[in-house]
Amino acid sequence: LEAKEEFSHKTRAMDVMRPRKNDPPLTVITQDSMSVEDVETIVSSTTYSGYPVVVSRTDLIISIENARKKQDGIVSTSVICFTDYCPPLPPSSPSVLKLRSILDLSPFTVTDETPMEIVVDIFRKLGLRQCLVTHNGKLLGIITKKDVLKHIAQMANQDPDSILFN
Ligand code: ADP
Repeated sequence: LEAKEEFSHKTRAMDVMRPRKNDPPLTVITQDSMSVEDVETIVSSTTYSGYPVVVSRTDLIISIENARKKQDGIVSTSVICFTDYCPPLPPSSPSVLKLRSILDLSPFTVTDETPMEIVVDIFRKLGLRQCLVTHNGKLLGIITKKDVLKHIAQMANQDPDSILFN
């Protein structure tokens, strides 16, 4: 793979990440304000592999399913809390579903200005599946391994499947 020259292009993380300019916003899950129903709607209306805060689709589906079956008081309107300390709710509200254990506590992050050459290197060396993109510490978007492969293919004008990803 001779991408080195190609990447002296001035491509930055912001050019490869999603969402792009006219895309709908990044699908995120908030740490302690979404209900079981909200999260189930996200999982069923999208097919993304991850949702920042980074939590895998499979872990989400399994944990919610288990809690609904085995945990008393977990219903669609139960709030899901991904933090250690979950804020108290009025006594009349349904049980809180605590899902801190399925969070990826150290998702990899680059800033939007990071050159793609470096991003590609990081993906290769660390074997990342996805990487979050931030601007001034705020979450802006996401780059998946496939996004990186597509980008390399575009630069090299090749079929993504023909590219080795070590
Ligand atoms: P893959 O890139 O392997 O198909 P995904 O299904 O997770 O993996 O992502 C599909 C596309 O959607 C990619 O271009 C990715 O950048 C984007 N994407 C991934 N997760 C999200 C998300 N939570 N919100 C918005 N877009 C996302």
